[in-house]
Amino acid sequence: MQGVAELAVVGGGAAGLACAVTACRAGLDVVVLERTDRCGNKLAVTGGGKGNFTHVESPRAMAGRFDCDTRLIMPLLRKFPYQSIIQFFSSIGIEARSDDEGCVWPKGENAAGVRDALLRAIATAGGKVRTGCRVTGLKPGWRIQVGDDVLVARNVCLATGGASYPRTGSTGDGLALCRSLDLKTVEWFPALASLRTKDDLSGLAGVTQPRVEMTLLVAGSEPRTAAGHFIFAHAHVSGSSVLNLCGYAARGLAERRQVVLRVNWVPDRSASDLSAEFASGRAAHPKKQLGTFLGTFVARRLAVRLCAMAGVPSDRILTELSRAEQESIIRQLASTEFAIIGTEPMERATVTGGGVSLDEVDLKTMQARRFAGLYFAGEVLDVWAETGGYNLHFAWATGMAVAEAIASGKS
Ligand SMILES: Cc1cc2nc3c(=O)[nH]c(=O)nc-3n(C[C@H](O)[C@H](O)[C@H](O)COP(=O)(O)OP(=O)(O)OC[C@H]3O[C@@H](n4cnc5c(N)ncnc54)[C@H](O)[C@@H]3O)c2cc1C
Repeated sequence: MQGVAELAVVGGGAAGLACAVTACRAGLDVVVLERTDRCGNKLAVTGGGKGNFTHVESPRAMAGRFDCDTRLIMPLLRKFPYQSIIQFFSSIGIEARSDDEGCVWPKGENAAGVRDALLRAIATAGGKVRTGCRVTGLKPGWRIQVGDDVLVARNVCLATGGASYPRTGSTGDGLALCRSLDLKTVEWFPALASLRTKDDLSGLAGVTQPRVEMTLLVAGSEPRTAAGHFIFAHAHVSGSSVLNLCGYAARGLAERRQVVLRVNWVPDRSASDLSAEFASGRAAHPKKQLGTFLGTFVARRLAVRLCAMAGVPSDRILTELSRAEQESIIRQLASTEFAIIGTEPMERATVTGGGVSLDEVDLKTMQARRFAGLYFAGEVLDVWAETGGYNLHFAWATGMAVAEAIASGKS
């Protein structure tokens, strides 16, 4: 390859494309280098193909969704609140709609359409996109190795993503590139993924609970709580509430600490509410079996399992239930504990934890502290967030921050 680009963006995912659009529009000469034959493969599958691309929330509230020192990312989130992301997408022809939970989606478009709009905006602004270009080396100067070719650029934005869903192209190359520059990195781990329990729960596969509250107990750490829906899969437990706790579980497991997930299946009822409901259930249906009665609170198969865990036969007739048995069942409804022994593999994790240590990055400009002209954007950084559009928000915000920093340095 010949010539010196003002900015080479390594990785044509969400962060890289947002960076390229902003940089081209600011008049920079930009080339995007994407290893697969199509940009934005992961972006196209986000939000079940619908692309939950940001969240209606104040910068302060949003900062709390990220797993990092919130003080570090507050300036970035203040500079790029959700309104600015919506405005950016409107400028490339993607309008937004938000749902009852505040998740923002493209209106009348899907996630692949968002990717296509970003690519059109790059082309319109004169940017170049080269697919099938896997970057294998990076040397100050900036000399970028692609196969036997070397591209020279004044600035590089490393936006190679994490290591989850590798079939989309995000195979974790960013860490090797950073390590070759002796940058501090944190090993990848699945941050948003289902959890593997010690007990075989395959008999419950397919059972879902629309709203539970749960607490993750990692020995030696503060308990973490989450609420949302809960799914029993074949070898895992999943659902939004579980995903949001996964990263903390993964870290605890990597440090060989004991990890327990405690689930409250009836978060809207206190123990005394439940006692009262048992009393009225007994009065109205004296011959009803315990398992059937519990089916009013949880799915029937789960009810039977909870009875077994509480040591009470599920066919016990309500009027024959002892006080101790009733209390044991009520405790089980409010705090079932599952020992956690692993997470889903990286291949199926939604988001990756780990990446370039934030110690190496000036988060105002996203530039490496020790290398002028080297910038980072998106999941390659050691930051991850809950589900709800925050991870894409971070990708857009960091990508735009890089472009703005380079453009302002140029003028
Ligand atoms: C199934 C799924 C659903 C998701 N849903 C949502 C959602 O609804 N909302 C949300 O906020 N987040 C969601 N996420 C997370 C979100 O997709 C990511 O956080 C986001 O895509 C990260 O953007 P990125 O640009 O940093 O990385 P990526 O999108 O992973 O892009 C990185 C790009 O770099 C390329 N690349 C890698 N190595 C090289 C190399 N050596 N040379 C050249 N190119 C390279 C890759 O091919 C890839 O195109 C979802 C993720 C998955 C897997």
